[in-house]
Amino acid sequence: MAKKEKKNEAADLKEKLFMKRKDAGLELSESDIEKADKYCEGYMEYLDTCKTEREACERSVIMAEKQGFKPFDKNRKYSEGDKIYLNNRGKALILAVIGKEPIEKGVNIAAAHIDSPRLDLKQNPLYESEGLGYFKTHYYGGIKKYQWPALPLALHGVIYKADDEKVEVKIGEDDSDPVFVVTDLLPHLAEEQYKRPAGKLIKGEELNILIGSRPFREDKASENVKLNLMLILNEKYGITEEDFISAELECVPAFKAKDIGFDRSMIGAYGQDDRVCAYPALTAILSLKSAPERTAVTILTDKEEIGSEGNTGLRSAYLKYFIYDLAETFGVKGHTVLSASKCLSADVNAGFDPTFSAPYEKMNSAYLNKGVVVTKYTGSRGKSGTNDASAEFVSEIRRLLDKNDVIWQTGELGMVDAGGGGTVAMYIANLDIDTIDVGVPVLSMHAPFEITAKTDVYMAYKAFRAFFKG
Ligand code: MN
Ligand code: MN
Repeated sequence: MAKKEKKNEAADLKEKLFMKRKDAGLELSESDIEKADKYCEGYMEYLDTCKTEREACERSVIMAEKQGFKPFDKNRKYSEGDKIYLNNRGKALILAVIGKEPIEKGVNIAAAHIDSPRLDLKQNPLYESEGLGYFKTHYYGGIKKYQWPALPLALHGVIYKADDEKVEVKIGEDDSDPVFVVTDLLPHLAEEQYKRPAGKLIKGEELNILIGSRPFREDKASENVKLNLMLILNEKYGITEEDFISAELECVPAFKAKDIGFDRSMIGAYGQDDRVCAYPALTAILSLKSAPERTAVTILTDKEEIGSEGNTGLRSAYLKYFIYDLAETFGVKGHTVLSASKCLSADVNAGFDPTFSAPYEKMNSAYLNKGVVVTKYTGSRGKSGTNDASAEFVSEIRRLLDKNDVIWQTGELGMVDAGGGGTVAMYIANLDIDTIDVGVPVLSMHAPFEITAKTDVYMAYKAFRAFFKG
């Protein structure tokens, strides 16, 4: 008997002292799992209709207007419960719901990005070679180039014609649409290709998109396939070849979001980094029916995948200017608001992949279905390129999530010195805002088909909602 008591004592002590990992698959009630599945139906629709930053921005504005959000007017006076948005050049969006507390107490920000890795057309993209028509591309963001050939691709974007008329392009998404493709070498002839290092298995200049093969038949001159393609494009969009110069055309996977697994527990789709956080951050602010305690702000930004540069990325001043302008409408100094603000940088983390476990450190990795990931630091080579959230702020977020029954876990982007990466967190923290990364674990991140777990997506929504409600 004495021995058994001893054993119980150890078990009791372990229960009391050891860290407990939560598992949404085991701990969520049937009805919560149903709620998560239901929530993800809306998310999957968002994925299918928002494959580019422009589409995500446009759709998010429509969703926001339905909930009573109005364009921000810096000459107006705002009061609690007012819902406003700022559309930054059709590619980035800030939404806010004015809180009960005075603005000088700071705002609560959830910041996600709506750009994703893809193949952008070059400015002079169209050519013909040996009877086949192609577009030249320059890839955008961190891709494994070998993953992009032999996939159905759709073309999304805008073209500004010589007279500045805007033409919107979206082709490859309807079942009746044609799609496009990057070709790959047959294995029979790949002996030399296989000798290339993996990063060069497909080279950047080999990511050429096949777009046609029928020539213009009226005469026997050269470039007749190109001519025929240009004729089709002219008939369809009214453009000439020169108009590609003032275009932004993005090639993205043409397939739709799908359930993954016999149990349908996961989602496979293009662009989940970072729409899997953008959608929860958006729907969390849209769900606020009355004024939150502190002013709530959701940012859906562009350009994260290429280092947050440019005036639609978060290294630009657009967030700062918005906060300054908003502060001014209350007669408050902008920096007073920034310094008192808090931010959840809503971006994905790497989900532990048992098939490729080597670069992960098991104790500090994030796992699918174990909840939203709280990442204190990202970066690489000795925490370079991260904001490294303070213990004080981690403590605050930890208590907030626990209080609101959010299943969450910690995460680190792989083993020390295995690689690394960053998010927008450091650029927001640089504005003197307490910031921490909170997002969803993803398998096959940056691949054309990324994987998330539905319970984690729902927990991200619950986390951002709790953050806004206080
Ligand atoms: Mn991301
Ligand atoms: Mn990314």
